[in-house]
Amino acid sequence: QTMQTSPSTQIVNVGGFDIGGPNFTVIAGPCSIESQAQFMETASGVKAAGAHLLRGGIWKMRTSPTAFQGLGANSFDMVRTVCKELNMSLVSEVTDVRQIEEVYDIVECFQVGSRSMQNYELLKELGRQKKPVLLKRGLAAYIDEWIKASEYVTKMGNQNVILCERGIRTFETATRNTLDLNAVAYAKKNTHLPVIVDPSHAVGIRALVPDLAYAAAAVGADGIIVEVHPRPAEALSDGMQALTLNDFSVMMKKLDRILTAI
Ligand code: PEP
Ligand code: MN
Repeated sequence: QTMQTSPSTQIVNVGGFDIGGPNFTVIAGPCSIESQAQFMETASGVKAAGAHLLRGGIWKMRTSPTAFQGLGANSFDMVRTVCKELNMSLVSEVTDVRQIEEVYDIVECFQVGSRSMQNYELLKELGRQKKPVLLKRGLAAYIDEWIKASEYVTKMGNQNVILCERGIRTFETATRNTLDLNAVAYAKKNTHLPVIVDPSHAVGIRALVPDLAYAAAAVGADGIIVEVHPRPAEALSDGMQALTLNDFSVMMKKLDRILTAI
């Protein structure tokens, strides 16, 4: 008897790349856009190593209000310059409905952060847009709550939703969160949406990020979103989990071998 194949049929095009189907898509870049030079160096490095799409925070959802909150509107021109120069598209988080319009011409895929997964007004407004949505799982959300959150977007007419497992809060404190690979397998079998993994926020420790990226590929995820910084020690957010450009390039080569093998 053959295994039931995944009903994941929705293919979501982001900046010319099809997410879902047979493809494994790599979205990479800094946690936060910190300067034009930092964003350009990171973006050109990840592109050279084979990343398909860029990530980079404009507005950050930080635990502490005194932590770096992102450059906001001061980064718009940096995004324009880097994306144009490298001919790449940006995936970036919107934390409020008003930001959708502000970045509509510079962001190709709207990320909904873990802390916003149940911001239903934000989800409904994104459901009225023509651009795709990357929906991160809430840090303590049931799989069912995550899937239902995606339906707030699709019900409004926007079918282009990508689910993202980014680790959940468990009793374990040795790592930042616990990557729930069950959720990836479950969502692949029980939804028609592409599912990707964020190994960076899931584990929070640079040295462990590549291993979880490989696990994501093996479990059948449609891609990963991963944080990279040219000098992690200088990062204004999430430096502990940022891969260096060299780490990223080594990981990409091994990922290729794993994807060929499975
Ligand atoms: C991020 O991608 O930088 C981020 C804030 O992620 P999460 O919402 O998963 O915590
Ligand atoms: Mn981050």
